[in-house]
Amino acid sequence: MQPKQNIIHLPVYQPGKPIEDVKRELGLTDVVKLASNENPFGSSEKAKEAIIAELSNTSIYPDGASVSLTADIAAKFDIGTDQIIFGTGSDEVILMIARAFLTTGDETIMADETFSQYKHNAVVENATIIEVPLKDGKHDLPAMLARVTDKTKIVWICNPNNPTGTIVHKEELEQFMSQVPPHVLVVLDEAYCEYIEDEQYPDGFEFLKRYKNLVLLRTFSKIYGLASLRIGFGVGRPETIRYINQVREPFNTSRFGQAAAKAALADEEFVAYCREQNRRGIQYITGEFERLGLSYFPAYGNFIMFDTKFPSAQVFDGLLRRGVISRARWSKYPTHVRITVGSQEQNEKFISSLEQVLQELAVQV
Ligand SMILES: *Cc1c(COP(=O)(O)O)cnc(C)c1O
Repeated sequence: MQPKQNIIHLPVYQPGKPIEDVKRELGLTDVVKLASNENPFGSSEKAKEAIIAELSNTSIYPDGASVSLTADIAAKFDIGTDQIIFGTGSDEVILMIARAFLTTGDETIMADETFSQYKHNAVVENATIIEVPLKDGKHDLPAMLARVTDKTKIVWICNPNNPTGTIVHKEELEQFMSQVPPHVLVVLDEAYCEYIEDEQYPDGFEFLKRYKNLVLLRTFSKIYGLASLRIGFGVGRPETIRYINQVREPFNTSRFGQAAAKAALADEEFVAYCREQNRRGIQYITGEFERLGLSYFPAYGNFIMFDTKFPSAQVFDGLLRRGVISRARWSKYPTHVRITVGSQEQNEKFISSLEQVLQELAVQV
C-alpha cells in the first residue's frame, strides 16, 4: 500500500489547543482560548434560532446548491447567483480551487508565512510551490509578480494576512492585478474583511468587476461566529465558479450551516457590535504592548502578532500555564506570538499573564 508520493511527508494539521485539554492537563479551571481567531461573542441570537428551527430536518439532505443562501449573498453584494460557491468553511473552497486548477508541474505562488491551507492543498495536488518572503510582515506583491511564469496557475493573497495581520492596500493590489497575466488565477482571501474599516483596504468586489481572473474567499467562521458549522464561500466569474463547482461534493455544507449563515448575514447589528468591540480590544492590547515595550505588526483582523523577544515556545508555555492559549512557533518569526482579540476580560487576563511571563523569562536570562 502506497499513498501519493507527494503526501508522504505532509504533516497533519495542528489546531489550537482545545480549552478542555488545557484544563485537564494543567489542572486549571479558568482557561481562555485566544489561539484560533474565534469570535469571543459567540454568534447572532438569530443564527441560534435558525439552527434550532432546523433540528426537525436532520434526516433530510441539505440543499446541495444552497439556493436560498446564494440568493441572499447575491443580493447583498450585487452579484450573480452563478458567481458563488460554498464550502465546509473557506478551507474547503481552498481545497476545491487547488483540486480544480493544480496538477503536477503547475506553479503556485504564496507568501512564505501565510495561511497554511494554500500550501497544504498545493502539495496534495503535487504542484510546485513558490514562497515569496513577506516584507515587514506584508505581502510583497511586486516580488510575487516577478515570480510569475507561463506555468503559474494560482497566486494566493491573504488580506489581512494570517498570521501577521497586515493588509495590502488598494493601490498595491491595483498595481498587481493590472500586471498579472490573465492565465493566472488570483485568490484573495478576505476571511477577516468585516472587521476592517480602513480606507486603504481594497474591496474585493470592486476588483472582481474589473478583473476576470480573481476569486474572493469569505467565511462565516470569524466575525459571524459560526466556525463549528463549517461554512464559507468563494466568489468569482461564473466560468471560474463553474470549474470549482465541478469538483464539489454534492452535499458539502449542512442545513445548520446554511440556515445559520442566512440568519447571521441579516443580523448587521451583531456584526457591527463585534467590529466595535474588536476595535476597542486592539486599542487596549496595542496600548499595553507599547507600555511593555513590545513591537507588533499593525493589526486589521481580530488578531495581533507581536514580538516577545524570547523564543516564542517559552512565552506560549508560560501563557498556557496561566490559562491563556495563544499561537506560536512560526519558523519565519521565532520570537513572535499571535493572539486573538478576545472580550475585554479575556484581553486583560492575557496582558496580566503576559507581563508575568515576560518578567519570569527576563529573570532567567
Ligand atoms: C480562518 C481562516 C480561513 C478559513 O476559515 P473556515 O473556517 O475554513 O471558513 C481562511 N482563511 C484565513 C486566512 C483564515 O484565517
